[in-house]
Amino acid sequence: MSPAQMPITHPELSSTPALDVDVLCAGFACHDLVFAVPQHPGPDEKMRAEGLTNCGGGLAANAAVAAARLGCRTAFAGYLGADVYGDFHLAEFHADGVNTAWVVRGSEPTPLSAIIVKPDGLRTIVHYRGDSEGACTGRFDLAQLRTKSILIDAYQFDLAVALTEYAKANHIPTVIDADALRPQVAQLVQQVDYVVASERFALEYSDDAGVEAGLHKLSAVAPHVVITLGGRGLIWQQGATVGQLPAFPVNAVDTTGAGDAFHGAFAAGLALGLGWDELLRYASAVGALCCTKVGGRVGIPMAAEVTEF
Ligand code: ADP
Repeated sequence: MSPAQMPITHPELSSTPALDVDVLCAGFACHDLVFAVPQHPGPDEKMRAEGLTNCGGGLAANAAVAAARLGCRTAFAGYLGADVYGDFHLAEFHADGVNTAWVVRGSEPTPLSAIIVKPDGLRTIVHYRGDSEGACTGRFDLAQLRTKSILIDAYQFDLAVALTEYAKANHIPTVIDADALRPQVAQLVQQVDYVVASERFALEYSDDAGVEAGLHKLSAVAPHVVITLGGRGLIWQQGATVGQLPAFPVNAVDTTGAGDAFHGAFAAGLALGLGWDELLRYASAVGALCCTKVGGRVGIPMAAEVTEF
């Protein structure tokens, strides 16, 4: 064998664990410290919080938890620091049955958010992401992957790009959680089958021309587009066909994480092979149920709750 024919053995690639799942969610995981306070603290004020919620968060991570609770064999691919928050998040994933074989750990801290919630529902968030954004670059041999759908956000951008290319070659449906307009997200919306975007993203993408203008502009680059509008439901476009679906009426007490739950359910629905109308109703039901409990991850429902709903 000449040197040119010799297989390239990359130490990490050659040791990529095989994944055989229904749903792969790849991207951002963080830890949330949510402090409930009576009012916004003043400058230099020391304030005692009335409540503390301590849980994992992040777009793709929450979506993975949602897909797993809905009964799909689900894996998360992304980064967690080798610190207490990373250990905590990993344990949470395992409690929900999420496969973590494609989680990279390292000395950069687990991204952390300190969230201050006031009685009026307004939140102040301070977050630290460190330098883990490219931690998954070149780390996985995608030939080791078997999955029925893939959800990405843009946090591990190189991995997301590689996954869209792998998915295209293997006819696996891909969906992106488009939350805020950044160059990486603008590139990825052109590479996936399904764009499920927030209202804010649609507005930004339209250069503030309006949500419907954003929907149409996204439809020029992606075959299926959904814009979620919180308690007002969603609008969608496939080619020249447009539609809308109102939100399920629920007693919403905390809308945190509804979007992530919607995305996880959407990816789960794709893996289950649901038709378009059923897919949108299924994801909307999961998003609505998520709003009926306080705490983003706490509210993500189990499959039986969705069926009953
Ligand atoms: P994001 O957090 O990504 O902006 P949204 O707030 O738009 O996500 O919520 C996603 C979906 O969750 C909505 O399209 C809707 O189906 C459901 N949802 C969100 N808020 C409510 C609510 N107050 N009542 C019922 N359903 C809701």
